[in-house]
Amino acid sequence: MTIDSIVVGLGAHGSAAAYHLAKRGRSVLGFDRFARGHTLASFGGLSRIIRLSYYEHASYVPLLKRAWGLWRELERDSGETLLAQTGGLYMGRPDGELVTGSLASARTHGLEHQVLESAELRRRFPVFNIDPDWIGVLDSQAGWLAPERCVETHLRQAERHGATLRFAEPIERWEPDGDGVRVTSSQGSYRARRLVIAAGSWLPRLLPQLAPHLWVERNVLFWFEPRGELDAFARLPVYIVEDTDRFYYGFPYDRENGIKMAGLHFGDRVDPDTVDREASPADEERVRAWLRRRMPLANGERRRAQVCMYTNSPDRHFIIDREGPVTYASACSGHGFKFASAVGEILADLATTGRSSLDIGFLSGDRLASGTMKA
Ligand SMILES: Cc1cc2nc3c(=O)[nH]c(=O)nc-3n(C[C@H](O)[C@H](O)[C@H](O)COP(=O)(O)OP(=O)(O)OC[C@H]3O[C@@H](n4cnc5c(N)ncnc54)[C@H](O)[C@@H]3O)c2cc1C
Repeated sequence: MTIDSIVVGLGAHGSAAAYHLAKRGRSVLGFDRFARGHTLASFGGLSRIIRLSYYEHASYVPLLKRAWGLWRELERDSGETLLAQTGGLYMGRPDGELVTGSLASARTHGLEHQVLESAELRRRFPVFNIDPDWIGVLDSQAGWLAPERCVETHLRQAERHGATLRFAEPIERWEPDGDGVRVTSSQGSYRARRLVIAAGSWLPRLLPQLAPHLWVERNVLFWFEPRGELDAFARLPVYIVEDTDRFYYGFPYDRENGIKMAGLHFGDRVDPDTVDREASPADEERVRAWLRRRMPLANGERRRAQVCMYTNSPDRHFIIDREGPVTYASACSGHGFKFASAVGEILADLATTGRSSLDIGFLSGDRLASGTMKA
């Protein structure tokens, strides 16, 4: 039997693509380089922010609305709880990228939000040291996803619809084969009509034309036990702060793990095969320095740490495209998890019909060559 679709990479986007393809009755064979349940790629770490007033660009908002709806649908179909709606708080200078971008998305798309002056921010969120010239945008439709559970739920639902999924079997190469593709793994060779590549940080190995444009960045997530005000930390929305050096973000306190936080883009380039998976004292000091300044009560005992990887494009926007029988998604530049439910659907649409009903032109691979963003 000729397989309809091979999916390479069963992380955030590949697990969702396998699910959407299988649900449409396509025969699906999926591969991951690691064992099922691994956290060695970009989706590990217990929580991922999802938010609609998207500072990165208003063009993402229709995709986010679709993603939110599909996560809720997946919860209903599977009986799993995947998304916690806590609201989202984005703070910084009024002319900064975070506040202006979030407000532009909220206003363009009529999203429910509030703008809070610094005195009001201090009153409502006393655990932060807030500068007098900061303002905050409070986004109602925001919260966090449980990424390991989201991936496993997509995988299980894909299997329920007939997909065959193989783990600890890396794909080494592929080539066109007649009107389809031939894929070679560490264990064998397989033919299919079409190929979906969602290999995250390893994608440039399978699509070398993208390699000059992409780079992989190491990032470390930390969980700390606050030194007081546990209830105030537990009531926090997910938050992002644009500070003078970079963005920092975090999640509400949970008793089991503490308060999770991280800095965005410290710029540490790595190779995904040799990345240092231990959090170093220097990694920890970078985020503790911020906590001392902005959230001193959160600067308590370290409870967990996890190393993760971003795959970055030059403009930090995703790449989703199709070339012949090959459809691919990557370079989510540290902000792609929340979209996975919708990206899975988009990959299935592109692979089977060549188009998506959502506007994804601004994410096409062409812009890499021209160096311009189309949004
Ligand atoms: C520290 C950190 C924090 C983040 N926070 C957020 C957040 O709050 N909100 C948000 O929306 N996003 C966030 N992200 C980004 C998000 O997690 C990623 O954008 C997303 O996981 C990328 O999905 P992906 O499917 O492209 O890659 P991955 O999820 O990494 O999946 C790729 C899969 O491909 C497999 N693979 C690779 N090569 C091969 C091969 N040759 N053969 C077979 N399998 C292969 C890998 O094993 C892996 O399972 C964060 C990322 C990091 C690192």
